[in-house]
Amino acid sequence: MLKGMMLDRPLSIPAIIDYAAEVHPNAEIVSVTVEGGIHRTNYKDIRKRIASLAHGLLALGVKPSDRVATLAWNGYRHFELYYAISGIGAVCHTINPRLFPEQLAYIVNHAQDSLLFFDITFAPLVTGLRPKLPSNLKYVAMTGRETMPAQDGLDGLLCYEDLLAGQPDTIVWPELDENTAAALSYTSGTTGEPKGVLYSHRSNVLHATSGVIGSPRAFGSDRKILPVVPLFHVNAWGLPYSAPLSGTSLVFPGPKLDGASLFDLMDREKVHNSWGVPTVWLGLLNEMKLRGRKPEGLAQVLIGGSAAPQPMIETFERDFGVEVCHGWGMTEMSPIGTLGTLTPEMEQLSFEERIALKVRQGRRLFMVEMKIVDENGKELPKDGEAFGELCVRGPSVASGYYNNEAATAQALDAEGWFRTGDVAKITPDGFLQIVDRTKDLVKSGGEWISSIDLENAALGCPGVAHCAVLAMPHPRWGERPLLVVVPKPDAKPAKEDILTYLSTKVASWQVPDDVLFVESIPLTATAKISKLELRKLLKDYVLPTAA
Ligand code: AMP
Repeated sequence: MLKGMMLDRPLSIPAIIDYAAEVHPNAEIVSVTVEGGIHRTNYKDIRKRIASLAHGLLALGVKPSDRVATLAWNGYRHFELYYAISGIGAVCHTINPRLFPEQLAYIVNHAQDSLLFFDITFAPLVTGLRPKLPSNLKYVAMTGRETMPAQDGLDGLLCYEDLLAGQPDTIVWPELDENTAAALSYTSGTTGEPKGVLYSHRSNVLHATSGVIGSPRAFGSDRKILPVVPLFHVNAWGLPYSAPLSGTSLVFPGPKLDGASLFDLMDREKVHNSWGVPTVWLGLLNEMKLRGRKPEGLAQVLIGGSAAPQPMIETFERDFGVEVCHGWGMTEMSPIGTLGTLTPEMEQLSFEERIALKVRQGRRLFMVEMKIVDENGKELPKDGEAFGELCVRGPSVASGYYNNEAATAQALDAEGWFRTGDVAKITPDGFLQIVDRTKDLVKSGGEWISSIDLENAALGCPGVAHCAVLAMPHPRWGERPLLVVVPKPDAKPAKEDILTYLSTKVASWQVPDDVLFVESIPLTATAKISKLELRKLLKDYVLPTAA
């Protein structure tokens, strides 16, 4: 085969910040800090601090391939760590502080982290965890001298700003093979121990690039984007890379993620676009309804991580003129797989037709390939009707799990595609429709019922604030759906009214057998409904039709 004659230059994460500092020096990074107040910088200045931090890490003895952990909110120091750690060839291991302490300890031990950086708000958490963490782990509080937490239980604690002080503010990055590991994120899954997904420089640069291509209206040097999605969750969906590479300003909300705080920050900073999970948007929408307006400048939100409910999409678009882009992805995909960007022709469709497209999870990013297969692994048609397990392939898709042979052995199918565990349909024009997680589908009398569809329909019912559908054992049908509902404050929806409403939205055999009212539904550490926990809570529950 005749080879192309082009220079073989490696893709590199620090090249992104070098580029942003040079080409978009004044694009801003605004952070709500854990110490209180707002911090402002730009790509030119933060590049200098990143260089100083990289020197500080080297001075601490961090070596290539070392795992360096972070336990922190969205803010400029966390962003600096993303670049400095990967830049020197070490691995930036972001950890989700919302996990259970046992999971946190498992993750740090499994990854064999050598350093742990944490926001001062997490000092009590870290102190409590310390007896369970490796004895040689070093700790760094992400703050200045004057706000250092007490050393009780954390003796030897280092100060972030001390690491930078006196270090040069320029650096020549070591030239790394582009497949060098750069970042690590554990996926909590619903069964078993968390599994580590190990990203490379190449995979993260390609993912960030295709994210910009796939969502062109979100990025640009005249834009400000607010990642509500945490930097501790799957590369914050690529935003810490795709924003600087496109010159987009970043607004980091720190620990303040409630609707009112987000509204105020967006309003003040004239945020153009923001990305997050549906639970976050419920809070913001409530605030928008209270104030009777949207934050000034907010043009688009991206909803992903779990299915965006139709009423949420409609409220954003119809009541507030905020465009919704629905995305799907997973930790193993870096994470974005699909985005709901519409073509100009689709934009011309009626409101109802556009919403029908937006309820689906969008179309694949460049470099992501998708197929659906039946239980024998045979590919199914992309006709919008057939559904089966979704498999994906691409340079930003995991080939296995870090130090976990058993999980790695099951990750790929016989043809080398990654098995997502999601059940989906794909329409002829490429729209993905997630039907369910494989294990959450309800199999009733040999027919499948999508818990996502039922939840989506139930959320449109007056008085329903939050809901989840579970498959419950049934002697006749195998399984039947149970709807668990959190009512809206001051609302007392009747079970019969909800079931009557649902019978106008779904086929009669899909209507749940019962409705159970609860005060709250357990969420996972990434703010998704924890069906695992809900199943545990309802383990003794028997459907009236099954008694
Ligand atoms: P995680 O790895 O924690 O990001 O979780 C990935 C899983 O979240 C996927 O496999 C899906 O089951 C689910 N998910 C993510 N985005 C969506 C979406 N837009 N609609 C439905 N499910 C989603």
